[in-house]
Amino acid sequence: MKINHLGIATKEIAEALRFWEDALGLENVHTETVEEQKVRVAMLPLGESRVELLEPTSEDSPIAKFIEKRGSGGIHHVAVETDDIVASLAKLKAAGARLIDETPRIGAEGCLVAFVHPAATGGVLLELVQENKH
Ligand code: ZN
Repeated sequence: MKINHLGIATKEIAEALRFWEDALGLENVHTETVEEQKVRVAMLPLGESRVELLEPTSEDSPIAKFIEKRGSGGIHHVAVETDDIVASLAKLKAAGARLIDETPRIGAEGCLVAFVHPAATGGVLLELVQENKH
């Protein structure tokens, strides 16, 4: 397993890119809207991982709620890459971990993703990712 990406909630990707791209020097290689999750995402490779900037596309987006609750953007989730997301979910479930998604759904770039509840991890929203290999 490895860290696939860090999900960072932002009010506006364009504004966040002024730091992550212009000041820090990362490159935004992919931008996409994930309708199902009501977010726009920008992916910036960083070593073998990436920074995923998340911008809400509506007021009832989970990212909009996160920003409202916190009063600002910030780290929203950590994504761990697995080769077999179904097996990872089964293992977590067997261990009694509280899952948000019991079955994987389609995330950015056609990946399979599933979220694990922060109550199970000690306070961090965890995303499991299985990359789309074609
Ligand atoms: Zn993510």
